[in-house]
Amino acid sequence: MSTDLGSQKWVYAFSEGDGSDKQLLGGKGANLCEMTQIGLNVPPGFVITTQACLHFLDSGSKSVPEDMMSQVREHMALVEQATGKGFGDPENPLLVSVRSGSAMSMPGMMDTILNLGLNADTLRGEIEQTGDARFGYDAYRRFIQLFGKVAMGVPDEAFDTEFEAVKQAANVTEDVGLSADDLKEISERFLKVFKEQTGRAFPEDPFEQLEIAIKAVFGSWMGKRAIDYRTQFKITQDMANGTAVNICTMVFGNRGDDSATGVAFTRNPGTGEDKLYGEYLVNAQGEDVVAGIRTPKPIHQLAVEMPEMARQLDELRDKLEAHYKEVQDFEFTIERGVLYCLQTRNGKMNAVGMVRTSVEMVKSGLLSKEQALLRIDPMYLEQMLYPRLSPDFKGEPIAQGLPASPGAASGYAIFDADRAEIQGNDMGRPVILVREETKPEDIHGFFASQGILTSRGGKTSHAAVVARGMGKPCVAGAEGIRVDVQRREAHVGNQLIREGDMITIDGSSGNVYLGEVAMVEPEFSDELKKLLQWADDAADLHVMANADTPSDAARALKFGARGIGLCRTERMFNAVERLPVVIEMIVADDEAQRQVALDKLLPMQRADFRGLFETMAPYPVTIRLLDPPIHEFLPSERQLLNDIEQLKHLRDSARGMEVLSGSMMLLDGDMAGLTKDAVKQIVSPDMVEKAISKKAQMLQKVRDLTEVNPMLGHRGVRLGITFPEIYRMQIRAILEAEAECVAKGLEVRPQMMVPQVCTAAELRWIKGYVDEVRADVESKSGQKLNCRFGTMIEVVRACMRAERLAEEAEFFSFGTNDLTQAVFSFSREDAENKFLPMYNRSDILHDNPFEVLDTKGVGKLMELAVQWGRQVKPDLSVGICGEHGGHPSSIAFCHKAKLNYVSCSGPRVPVARLAAAHAALKA
Ligand code: PEP
Ligand code: MG
Repeated sequence: MSTDLGSQKWVYAFSEGDGSDKQLLGGKGANLCEMTQIGLNVPPGFVITTQACLHFLDSGSKSVPEDMMSQVREHMALVEQATGKGFGDPENPLLVSVRSGSAMSMPGMMDTILNLGLNADTLRGEIEQTGDARFGYDAYRRFIQLFGKVAMGVPDEAFDTEFEAVKQAANVTEDVGLSADDLKEISERFLKVFKEQTGRAFPEDPFEQLEIAIKAVFGSWMGKRAIDYRTQFKITQDMANGTAVNICTMVFGNRGDDSATGVAFTRNPGTGEDKLYGEYLVNAQGEDVVAGIRTPKPIHQLAVEMPEMARQLDELRDKLEAHYKEVQDFEFTIERGVLYCLQTRNGKMNAVGMVRTSVEMVKSGLLSKEQALLRIDPMYLEQMLYPRLSPDFKGEPIAQGLPASPGAASGYAIFDADRAEIQGNDMGRPVILVREETKPEDIHGFFASQGILTSRGGKTSHAAVVARGMGKPCVAGAEGIRVDVQRREAHVGNQLIREGDMITIDGSSGNVYLGEVAMVEPEFSDELKKLLQWADDAADLHVMANADTPSDAARALKFGARGIGLCRTERMFNAVERLPVVIEMIVADDEAQRQVALDKLLPMQRADFRGLFETMAPYPVTIRLLDPPIHEFLPSERQLLNDIEQLKHLRDSARGMEVLSGSMMLLDGDMAGLTKDAVKQIVSPDMVEKAISKKAQMLQKVRDLTEVNPMLGHRGVRLGITFPEIYRMQIRAILEAEAECVAKGLEVRPQMMVPQVCTAAELRWIKGYVDEVRADVESKSGQKLNCRFGTMIEVVRACMRAERLAEEAEFFSFGTNDLTQAVFSFSREDAENKFLPMYNRSDILHDNPFEVLDTKGVGKLMELAVQWGRQVKPDLSVGICGEHGGHPSSIAFCHKAKLNYVSCSGPRVPVARLAAAHAALKA
C-alpha cells in the first residue's frame, strides 16, 4: 500500500475510472465506469477504491484515509453539477445509493443503502419538489431502516414490529395501501427505534451519513458473512482484497406514470431468440419487481405504454451487445421520461440459448466464429443431448451415487434383467433396472430399461460403461441402497423400494428420487450442428466414438463422430443368444471343444464387423481384440451356490411329490387318476438332478478360473497368446468382413488393436497370427486388405517401451482407464466409492483421476510414450480411448500432447468436438 497518503487518489468518478481495474474499483465499480464511458446513461456517481478499504482495516482506529472524505466531497460536487441537484440541499436534494463491490462478485455480502442524503429538511424539499408526500415518506422510512440495519446493525425485527403495528391500525393488508400519513408515522417510529437501538439520534448531516455508511461497507469486508463466503468459495487475497464503495445518484421509477423500472436480457435466455426479453413496472421501484408485490408486465408492452422509451431501450440493447459482444442481463429505470441503465452483466443462459445466440451473433457479424465457439463451455452442451430433470423440480434425493452416465429417467424399479425385459419390452412400461452391480448377462435388461441404478461400482464399471455407450442414464455405486434381489426390493435407510415403485435417477448429478419427475427433452438442433461444424474446422484433434454395435455407431455418426476409436469386442457378445456360446467357449475343456464354440461365433462377429464398417465408411473403425476379465462373463460363485441350494430344495420337493402321488392312489374320484408319471411330468427329479450337476460343473469351472485380481489377470493379449484360436477367430472375422466390404466397392478403413500389451514380443506374436490369416483371406477372397495393426497403451511398461512397440504397431491408442489404475495402483472398480471422494473433498487429490486425466502422472507417461513412439515412426497415429477422451480438460491435454484423435462414448462426441476446438483456439 502506498505510504504517500497525501497524494493518493482514493476516489474515481464513473467517467474516469479504468473499467478493467477490478482489483482497485471492484467488479461493480469498474463496470459502472465502463458503462459510463461507452456512453450509456448511467446515473452520475463515483467509486471509493479497495485501497481505501485496506487502509481503513489496517488502521488500528478504524479510520478512513485522511484526505479521503475531502476527495469524496470534491466528487460529490461534480455529481451535483451533473445532476443540477445539491447533496443536503432542501430545495432540490440529491440522494444517493451506497453499495459494496469487490473484485469477485460476493452476492449478499452487504445490503445496499438507498436514499442516503434524506433528513428532515431534504425530505421536506423532496416532497415539495415532487408534490408527492407519500413518495417522500416512503423513501424516508426505507432509508432509516436500511441505514439502521446496514450501517448500524439494528435488527430488522425492531423496525418490522412498528411497521406491522401501523399497518394494523390503518387496517390495510398490502404495503401499497398505506397512506402518506401512515408512512409518516412509520418514519417517526423508525427514528425512535434507531435512537433506542443505537443510543444516538439519527444523523442529520448527509456527509456524516455518508461517512458512517462508507465505514460500514469497509468493515463488512471482515464481517462473518463475507469471511464465510470467501472461505466457502475459496476466494483468496489474490482474487479479491478489500471492497470498493460505489456512490451513485438515486433515480426513481416511482415518480409517476412517466416513470418505470425493469430488468431485461438483450436476447431470450431460454431460447436464444434475438428479441429483448424482460419485464417492467410503471411507477415502481426495483424492489417492487423483486418482492413480487405487483405483477410486472412483459417488456414488449412498453412499446404500447411508452413508445419513445421502448425505442430508446432498443438502442440501449444494441449498444450493450455491440460493446460487450455478449448477451446482457441489465437493469433500467425510467425517471420522468429519462432512461437510465443501472447495471449490466453477461446473461446466464441455458445451452439452447447459448448455441442459438452464438450462431446468430456470427451471422450478424457481432462475433467471429472463434469467439462464438469460445463463449460456450463444452460441458454445457450435455443439456442439449440428454433428457434432464425439469429446472422447476425441487425434490430431495433419497440416495446419491456416482453420476456415471448423464441424462435423467423415471421408471418402475425392477431388480433383475429378465423381469425388466418383461415389464419394459413386453408390457411397454418405463423401467429402471436396479442391481447391486451389472454383468454382461444383464444386457437385455439394459435394452429394456430407461436407466440403470447400481449400489456398487465406479464410473468405469460395467454398468457405467455400457450405459454410456447406449446413451442411457446411469447412477452407479449408490452405496446407501441395499438391493435384495430375492425379495425384489431395496432399502435406503429405513425407506423401502418395492418392485414396481416409481423412481427417478439423474445420471448427471448421481441423485436418486422416489416417484416420477418432469423432464426436459434434449434438442440436437440445426444451430448446434452448425456450431459443431465450425468446431471441427477449428480443431486439430479428430473426435471418434467408442461404439460396439452398428446402432451405437449410427448414433455416434449423428453426433458427428469421425470414426470408431474403440469397439470393445467382448461387449458384442452381450446379446442373449450369444452369451451361452461365449460361456461355452470360456469353459471348454480342450481346444476342440472351444473350436466348436468359436465356429459358431465367427459368422456372428463377421456380420457385426461388416455392419460397423458399412455404417462408418469411409471413417476408421478400430476393433479391439477380446479383453474380458473372464469373471465378467461367468455367473458368480455366490449366485451358483444359491441356485444349487434352491435346486436341491426343488429336488427334495419333487421326491416328496412322488411319495405323495403313491398315497393319492388311495383317494377316490379325480385325484386318484393322477398317476405317478403325471406328477413326474410336472417336476422330474431326474431333470432337477441334471440341472444340479450342470450348475456344479459350472461352479467348478468358475472356481478354476477364479483369480484373486482379475483386472490384472488372464485377460487381453495374455488370453490371446494362451488361447490362440480365440484371437485367430476374431482376426479372421475382421479381415473377412473387410474383404466382403471391399468386394462391394465400399471404402472402409478397418483397424485392429491389441489390449493390455506390455512388451513388443507380445505384439509380434499376435502379428504372426494376423500375417497368417491375412494371407489366407487375401488368397481366398482375391482382395488386397488394408486393415491396420495397432496397440493399446494401457500398461505402464508399454509407455516405457513405446519405441519398441512403435516398430510393430501402426498406431497407439491410450487406454487411460487401465493406465490410471496402474499408475495410481487404485482399483478402478472400487476407488470411486471408497476413499476417493474423501481424497477429493480434502484436496489430497484435486480431481477424480478416473474422470479427469491426471496430467502430472498419467499424462507425463503419455507424453513420453508419444515422443518415444514418434522417434521411431514420425507419422505414428496416436489417440486416446479411455473415458477421459470425452472430458474437456483432458482433451486440452491431448491436444497439447499432440495426439491425433480422442475417442469417447457417442453422446459425448459433441462435447468433445467443442472441447477439441477450444483446445486448438486457446493453444
Ligand atoms: C481403458 O483401459 O482405458 C480402455 C479403454 O479399456 P477398458 O476400459 O475396456 O479396460
Ligand atoms: Mg483397458
